[in-house]
Amino acid sequence: MPTLTLNNGVSMPALGLGVFQSPPAQTTAAVEHALRIGYRHIDTAATYGNERQVGEGIRRSGLDRAEVFVETKVWVTEYGYDLTRYAFDKAVTRLGVEVLDLLILHKPVPERFDTTIAAYKALEQLLADGKVRAIGVSNFTAKHLHDLFAQTEVVPAVNQVELHPYFAQPELQAVNAKHRIVTQAWSPIGGITFYPGWSGDRRNVLEDPTLASIAAKHGKSPAQVVLRWHLQQGRSAIPKSTNPDRIAENFNILDFTLTDDELASIDGLNTGRRIGPDPDVPMPSGYERSLLEE
Ligand code: NDP
Repeated sequence: MPTLTLNNGVSMPALGLGVFQSPPAQTTAAVEHALRIGYRHIDTAATYGNERQVGEGIRRSGLDRAEVFVETKVWVTEYGYDLTRYAFDKAVTRLGVEVLDLLILHKPVPERFDTTIAAYKALEQLLADGKVRAIGVSNFTAKHLHDLFAQTEVVPAVNQVELHPYFAQPELQAVNAKHRIVTQAWSPIGGITFYPGWSGDRRNVLEDPTLASIAAKHGKSPAQVVLRWHLQQGRSAIPKSTNPDRIAENFNILDFTLTDDELASIDGLNTGRRIGPDPDVPMPSGYERSLLEE
């Protein structure tokens, strides 16, 4: 699997396994299976409630800790300098590791951005102390990034954002690139376009006819084409699956290459409309729930 060099020189496997909505009871097996077939990067979060199971999957894989890139996120209820240091302590305890490869802020809190800044300053200190190898953010718009740059020292290594063919955020990708921030795609195969319970005008990315025709040409699946699109354009992608066959399918993307025309036609599917939460809209009350596990 190709790696991306972060802006502080740390190397990160471009493709990782995501575990949002992976039930804890299935997460250990999914992580172990992924690592056995070649994945070397797992993306979790405090609020997913499965960091313990991720840690267990890593241990069961038999790999050395240093061979696996472990990424997790601090949730908004733990923003603040001391709280975020404490969130780190809890995350490493749950994961059963001493050092995190990448720790990111899960989302900005625009209405109380001072807490976001304080949380990021804690990440900077954890980086200086060698407790994390890289730090970053998630769901930051260009404005949030600029507000962050104005008040902190370390440019984030990664900005993890909603990014799939129907919402490709080319302007934000350009801002990230200008500052040598790796763009990491969440819902990389468009999961959020077909999750049950999300209402509104949604079309399933994986049923797109353009993708179907490119996939047929290469003898691959639409999901594989989309993941190849991410990698060929220099992004990191973290597709989620708990199904062993789909975990393998999503990793099996290096034996074909999309042409420039194919990449451009996938770029052309962008609608400019996000499906997931707008980072500037305050979360509905109750959403800022306490963490699922301590
Ligand atoms: P994905 O785009 O990864 O899609 C996941 C969905 O697609 C699941 O329903 C999965 O089901 C299904 N699936 C997986 N592989 C295939 C395949 N090859 N063919 C058909 N269906 C497939 O969406 P996610 O929203 O899960 O995003 C991925 C990761 O990004 C998350 O797990 C999380 O780590 C991160 N994330 C971060 C967010 C943030 O705010 N920072 C927000 C959302 C996600 P099944 O398991 O049954 O295979």
